[in-house]
Amino acid sequence: MTPPDDAPRFNSAAARDIEYALHPYTNHKAFRDTGPLIIQRGQGIKVFDDSGKGYIESVAGLWCASLGFANQRLADAAYKQMQQLPFYHAFGARSHDPLIDLSEALIQRAPLSTGGKPFSKVFFANSGSEANDSAIKMIWFYNNAIGRPAKKKIIGRVRGYHGITVASGSVTGQPANHKMFDLPIAGFFHVSTPHHYGYAQPGETEEAFASRLAQELDDLIVREGPDTVAAFFAEPVMGAGGVIIPPATYYEKIQAVLRKHDVLFVADEVICGFGRTGHYWGCQTFGIQPDILTCAKQLSSAFLPISAVMISEQLYQGIAEGSDAAGTWGHGFTYSGHPVPAAVALETLKIYDEMEMPKLVATRGAYLQKAMQDRFASHPLVGEVRGVGMIGAIQLSPDKASRATFDPARKLGPRWQALGLEHGVMMRVLVNESAAISPPLTISEPEIDEMLDLIGAALDDLAKEI
Ligand code: PMP
Repeated sequence: MTPPDDAPRFNSAAARDIEYALHPYTNHKAFRDTGPLIIQRGQGIKVFDDSGKGYIESVAGLWCASLGFANQRLADAAYKQMQQLPFYHAFGARSHDPLIDLSEALIQRAPLSTGGKPFSKVFFANSGSEANDSAIKMIWFYNNAIGRPAKKKIIGRVRGYHGITVASGSVTGQPANHKMFDLPIAGFFHVSTPHHYGYAQPGETEEAFASRLAQELDDLIVREGPDTVAAFFAEPVMGAGGVIIPPATYYEKIQAVLRKHDVLFVADEVICGFGRTGHYWGCQTFGIQPDILTCAKQLSSAFLPISAVMISEQLYQGIAEGSDAAGTWGHGFTYSGHPVPAAVALETLKIYDEMEMPKLVATRGAYLQKAMQDRFASHPLVGEVRGVGMIGAIQLSPDKASRATFDPARKLGPRWQALGLEHGVMMRVLVNESAAISPPLTISEPEIDEMLDLIGAALDDLAKEI
């Protein structure tokens, strides 16, 4: 193939990237003009590009590099496991030590499942999308097994993010993941985003807003027929959809509706799990007792791909029954519980224990939340500063009082991100013009200040520009 006309503007690696790579989440026309930002190495909370410039990662990559971008113990765990047993599968009752040890470690650390009971079993996959897809298939299989084959519909939330495979992408509630992909498929529904600042009526309290959203869910289930609705998916804190902290009493009311109609609750802890919200699990921060819990990302501190689905004893019993009837439970990936990522995940959990991760995040998170408020709450371009534990957002608004939003055509989010890069901070500005704040959990207090100073400097530049 001939090189693109603009190839000389790029160094050799960038030109080859443009020539050969199809990037995820990229506008492929614009990309030919802008080219890639090539990241070459990582250290602590920073990554460095091919010119040597360093950037503080304010979102830990994609909310995942909890222990930062270098860790000898995790590298050693992978190397040791590769020498001992580089691969074996878990199909047909095969197993190995990393899978057994990690299953036990996750169940021991799990939050309470439905009815205050412990979780029962763990299934492994390779990504958050696969974990959520697996959860949907488990639910369908379970309902077939226990003799209610009509109970299959799945409810997610507008702007929720659960992945991009055909089923998990259907639970996801973001236009970009649906438009042009013929999603969602039939049988998937979405209820409103629980963002009080964004969607409450004037004067509506958090509690009244939560009651209204619970009623909306109840109405949807009744309209569709409770005998046809299987499960509700929620991220304890909605991440990619704008870092949405639910209003007071929201999950209590949502769970009451689900129990009333015998609808399962799947907690997507892909971002919230492993300390992010100030407790080990987002479920513990918000009083959720789910039937199924999915996790990924921080499970291995993102050093290798691995995800997990934890299920209640009730689900497990149904799946065991159905496996008998079906001949086998025909689900699983070549790399379900792959020994190398499992060994790295196990070492990651040990490191979290040694760091007393939830306790650490509770104190450092309090520091982060206060520093965000102090710096940004009264900034003329900022509408809301919100967060819990080590996750938060700074949302832009042209007018604090009316909570107006900027015209998306002005593309202030991407511009703020670009200015951040100039200042040396990697940012992620989400759909609702909110800069997500979700740094590695290992970030120190002085580093929190430095990160927020850089984000603030970029915001001041943006204010001058507009
Ligand atoms: N669930 C949540 C809450 C997520 O944030 C993500 C990824 N951002 C996913 C699922 C999908 O994970 P993956 O990209 O690993 O498929």
